[in-house]
Order: sequence, then structure tokens, then C-alpha cells
Amino acid sequence: MTTIQDLLAKFQRRFSSRAAVYHAPGRVNLVGEHTDYNDGFVLPAAIGFLCSVAIAPRNDRKLVLYSESFDSSMEADLDALPRKAAGHWSDYPLGVATSLEKSGYRLSGANLYITSDVPLGVGLSSSAAFEVAVGYALLDTAHHPIDRTRLAQMCQRAENEFVGAHVGIMDPFISCHGRAEHALLLDCRSLEFQFVPLPAKVKLVICNTMVKHQHAAGEYNTRRAECEEGVRLIGKALPGISALRDVTLVQLEQHRGLLPDAIYRRCRHVITENDRVQKVATALENGKIGELAPLFAASHQSMRDDYEISCPELDIMVALAAGKTGVYGARMTGGGFGGCTINLVATERSMEFQQQVAAEYYSATGLRPDIYVCAASQGAENVAGDNSSTD
Ligand code: ADP
Ligand code: MG
Repeated sequence: MTTIQDLLAKFQRRFSSRAAVYHAPGRVNLVGEHTDYNDGFVLPAAIGFLCSVAIAPRNDRKLVLYSESFDSSMEADLDALPRKAAGHWSDYPLGVATSLEKSGYRLSGANLYITSDVPLGVGLSSSAAFEVAVGYALLDTAHHPIDRTRLAQMCQRAENEFVGAHVGIMDPFISCHGRAEHALLLDCRSLEFQFVPLPAKVKLVICNTMVKHQHAAGEYNTRRAECEEGVRLIGKALPGISALRDVTLVQLEQHRGLLPDAIYRRCRHVITENDRVQKVATALENGKIGELAPLFAASHQSMRDDYEISCPELDIMVALAAGKTGVYGARMTGGGFGGCTINLVATERSMEFQQQVAAEYYSATGLRPDIYVCAASQGAENVAGDNSSTD
């Protein structure tokens, strides 16, 4: 892991000046999967993996970017930003700069040195950490006040409109607003949120199945379309609804006859998952950690059977974890068809859990999983220097 001092020294060597440093974390979602685009609820936590950006203003309107992760640099002119993504890592920072400028935040030219210990492309949202760290750094360097919710919206917009990935608000939101030792209950419709305490004696253990199925993006679009179809069909009986968020399980059962079986099951997943998010948040709020395991198990089952987004490797990983001592909940997390599981594990058991699950998963699948033992961490912050008060 690069320390702040290392990063400042590297910046000095590359750009021959002092710098300010900004951090933004990756995230894991504890429960609430595929609920975001149905105007529902999610319960993510920021994790200790960080994207770090060292930045110093320039006298012109150029952005000069260096990513240590790719050992690659690039330059752009804020007055002539590209209109389209290039399929390059720089799409993310340039997308953020574009969406900030389009929203009226005039930016200053700057030199940026970027490094990240968020594993790239495994579902821990290295992209949101990158966007938020750069967005925060650019805003502060241009002396704009930081509105964290607005920054999250700018980053989502960058990824939707510039990078071209149809992501929800959750990832940049938690990267902006995360709080150490807490998860964040987010209403994806109103963007109201509240912090939910996580027990001090529990770690967030993330197990990467090391599989990523090719059809994931297509299936994601299909699921979104199926949810919209569900709203359209149920709307024939309940004209007031605009998203599955507005439908109760009782109403779904009452109007089941309007729906083909697959659409019914997709709707049932979203409606029951929203309910589980509330129940998990309440259990955590009340310190009733023993109530979590069945809710996590039901969430996994719902994604496997109703939403049909699991895969054999995820099911194996969850089954291996769920039976272990000190495990308070295990389920797949993220979009599905591979990627990671999230496990709440007693701190004193977490190393043993890591070793046992890795060995058993390897025997079952022939794959060596990456397993990360994390704690809920702070959202984006300025950790060295301060560009907001300098000229
Ligand atoms: P995830 O967000 O799950 O990690 P994505 O595919 O959404 O996966 O984002 C990964 C991409 O984000 C990388 O391929 C790269 O283009 C960009 N990215 C993330 N972190 C960095 C970084 N430190 N430097 C350059 N690009 C980065
Ligand atoms: Mg991403």
C-alpha cells in the first residue's frame, strides 16, 4: 500500500511540486441487490481499499494525469474535452471533469498522480473510488465547496453518459458518504440515507470466486427490462405505481395472474429484497446480529431462484461459508454471474475463515479465491495538503 508520504514523493519526482492528497474508498453491498434501479433500498459500506489522488493546480487549463495502476499518462485540455469515451482508463477522470464543467463547476488545470489499492474489475467499485477521488480533488483544487451527494451524482453521470456504463447511484454515493464502523441505508429514490452501526467484533469478509461470466451485461439489461415489464403489467391494476418500490408483496400476490412466471419471480425478488434491507438495518440498529444469517441466506436464495443471477461458484462459496463458526451471514454481492460473496465474520475467526474457505473452495472448484478481510471505512477525504485555501 502506498503511504501518503510515498505518494507525495512520487508526485514531487514526476511533477516537481508539492501536492494535496485525496482518498476515496471502494465498497461492498451488504444487502439490497438489483433494488437500486427499482427505486428501492441498498445497504453498502465503504471498505479500507482506497484510490488516492495527489494533485496540484496548473496555470493553464490542462489536465495532466498519470495512473500508477496502468503506468500510463495522458493529457487533456479542459476547453476541448473529448466528446466520446476512448475505451481507456482516462475515460473516468475525463468523464468526471466533463460532467462537473457541464454542471457549471469551472475547474482549474491540474497535474494528477493516481494510485489505487482497490482491486480493479472485481466488483468492489474501483471505478467509483477513482471517479470520486478525482472529482473531489478537482473541485477542491478549483475552490468549489464539496456537496457529497452532488459529487456522487456527478460521478454517476460521468459513468452513465461518458464511460457508457449503466450503473446506479450506490457506488459513488457510498464512496462519498461512507463512515467508519457503519453501513449506510440508502433510499435510491429520495437519496435520503442513514448510518447503521456495524458490530465492532465483526469483519466484512469478501470472497472473490474468480469467475466472471461473459453474459453478465446482457442479463443485467434483461433483468432491468423484466422489472419495467412487471411495473407495466401490475400498473394495469394499480395505476399509481411507477416502480417496484411501490408494490407490496400482498399486492404482487393479488395480481400474480397478470404476470408471466419469470416476471412474477423477478418482481418477487425485488420486493422481498427491499424488505430484507429494512430488516437487516433494523437488526444491526438493535444489535441483534443473530438475526442476520437467515436474512442473508434468504437474499442469496432469492437471487439464485427468483432473479436467477447466481452461478455454481457463488453457490459453492456461500454454502462453504455459511456453515462455519463465527459467520453471521453469507450471500453473493454485486450484479451476479460471478464476482464476490460478502460474509459477516467474527473478528477472531476471520483468519481461520479465510484459510478454510480458500482451501475448501479450491478443492471444490480448482480455483484459488482472493479473500479480503475488511472493516467499514470513511468516505472520500482530503488527507494531506489543502487546495481549497491556496491560490
Ligand atoms: P470495478 O468498478 O468493479 O472495479 P469497473 O470495470 O467498473 O470495475 O472499473 C474498472 C476500471 O476502472 C478499470 O479497468 C480502469 O479503467 C478504471 N480504473 C479504476 N481504478 C483505476 C486507477 N487507479 N487508474 C486507472 N484506471 C482505473
Ligand atoms: Mg465499477
